[in-house]
Amino acid sequence: MKAAVLREVGKPLQIEDVQINKPGPHEVLIRTAAAGVCHSDLHFVNGTYPYPLPAVLGHESSGVVEQIGSEVRTVAVGDHVITCLSAFCGHCEHCLTGHMSRCPGTETQRGPDDEPRLANAADPMYQFLNLSSFAEQMLIHEHACTKIRKDMPMDVAALIGCSVTTGVGAITNTAKVQPGETVAVIGCGGVGLAAINGASIAGAGRIIAVDMQGSKLNLAKEFGATDVVDASQGDPVAQVMELTGGGVHHALEAIGLKPTTEQAFKMLARGGTATVIGMIPLGTNIELHGADFLAEKKIQGSLMGSNRFPVDMPRYVDFYMSGKLKLDNMISQRIKLADVNSAFEELERGELARSVIMFD
Ligand SMILES: [Zn+2]
Ligand SMILES: [Zn+2]
Repeated sequence: MKAAVLREVGKPLQIEDVQINKPGPHEVLIRTAAAGVCHSDLHFVNGTYPYPLPAVLGHESSGVVEQIGSEVRTVAVGDHVITCLSAFCGHCEHCLTGHMSRCPGTETQRGPDDEPRLANAADPMYQFLNLSSFAEQMLIHEHACTKIRKDMPMDVAALIGCSVTTGVGAITNTAKVQPGETVAVIGCGGVGLAAINGASIAGAGRIIAVDMQGSKLNLAKEFGATDVVDASQGDPVAQVMELTGGGVHHALEAIGLKPTTEQAFKMLARGGTATVIGMIPLGTNIELHGADFLAEKKIQGSLMGSNRFPVDMPRYVDFYMSGKLKLDNMISQRIKLADVNSAFEELERGELARSVIMFD
């Protein structure tokens, strides 16, 4: 099968022929239908975060089940599924307390002595984040995908695999936004737009979108932003303070930078909570003013929207089908696997919301 392989940090992905193994007892072989090109992939291409190479990248996808292992009970051949990188073991403390996205278990992966799931003619290849979805097929643990209704279009379903689950989940699962509360979202890429949409579904009173690009702020309004702040036109914290008369209940950082994380904390009202979604480069320190803790301001991280994805994802599908999740507006272009590098270039320019690779 064809797959997009990262062999060297900083170099374009190469489209290669990759061999995929047969499903083990708890594994599922999936024919990939669509795969979103997420900013997190770019962090590994650039080397901002390390990963063993060569690896088949991609982690936001939908597909159809082709084969299942002997013990698989959660999906059947022919099922439409969305994948999730939050593969969970099901029996550790995190899983048993409903925090499956924190599961540190490795039993959902193959061990070092097992045949690899992916390989080329000479060597094993690393599977990326339990998935490797820039490929015509995926071989994954059954706890890395969930069945969805068949009338859900596969291109928008793929987005639920990462950006939507990350953004909406940060609002509902991590920040637990209550109806009427004021929310600011810094960064209006795929995850930020999903957070804005999630805040709208959760019944937030005011939803303030913050970005440097007017085109993204216009898009944010379609997703439910009630106010926009153009951070290229002066200090965004001052602008949010003026708009709200004293700060927001929730600020969400959806870029992954030191200054925007500090801005998220600074724009809180007394008692407010900053939730950091973005992947901040390794080794970065965040500086906060100690006196703000006397105002009971809080800051927390959110990993993959604190998801319980087998529950969350089918709900997000229903939100889309009933018109509440605006996923169609999130896809800026549909491309072929061979065009994946140009999608990364677009991401680096920060212009487009989302490119989705479509497989035939
Ligand atoms: Zn992602
Ligand atoms: Zn677990």
